[in-house]
Amino acid sequence: MTRKLSRSARLRQVWNMANLSTPLGLLVAAATRTRVVRGPEGLVLGFGYRPRLPRAGAFTVGNVVLFRAGIADVAARPRLVAHESRHASQWAKCLGLPFLPAYLVAASWSMLRCGHPALQNPFEVRAGLADGGYRPRQHDRPGGSPPTRHRPDDHG
Ligand SMILES: [Zn+2]
Repeated sequence: MTRKLSRSARLRQVWNMANLSTPLGLLVAAATRTRVVRGPEGLVLGFGYRPRLPRAGAFTVGNVVLFRAGIADVAARPRLVAHESRHASQWAKCLGLPFLPAYLVAASWSMLRCGHPALQNPFEVRAGLADGGYRPRQHDRPGGSPPTRHRPDDHG
């Protein structure tokens, strides 16, 4: 299986390696003994991530996507992989490591606005809330509805 990377995927792969975000992701994978394999679009996919933090079913550091689930469960959710791939592009656009504080500010902003770290977080909205497993809140329910909570398979 030798599928050639698109030019943009190749650029992202090289850039996220150079800006040290992918090396950081690989370090996290190694430190947590998370097994990684080559994924689509130049991504590196890790499965069976165990540590408690971050509280998410999946998260992306540079081109490295770490899933709590196993490979079969992730293979059944291509839209989640697409969502995480958009985060890899966001790392690239943020020049790598500045993505982290920018994302934390965005998540805090979203918490203040709606009580949930993703639903009004521009990074998550642009990566696709539904693809990421987030269910948008229903605004029009009489009496209001509680904020949507993370499901175990939500990602961060
Ligand atoms: Zn996301």
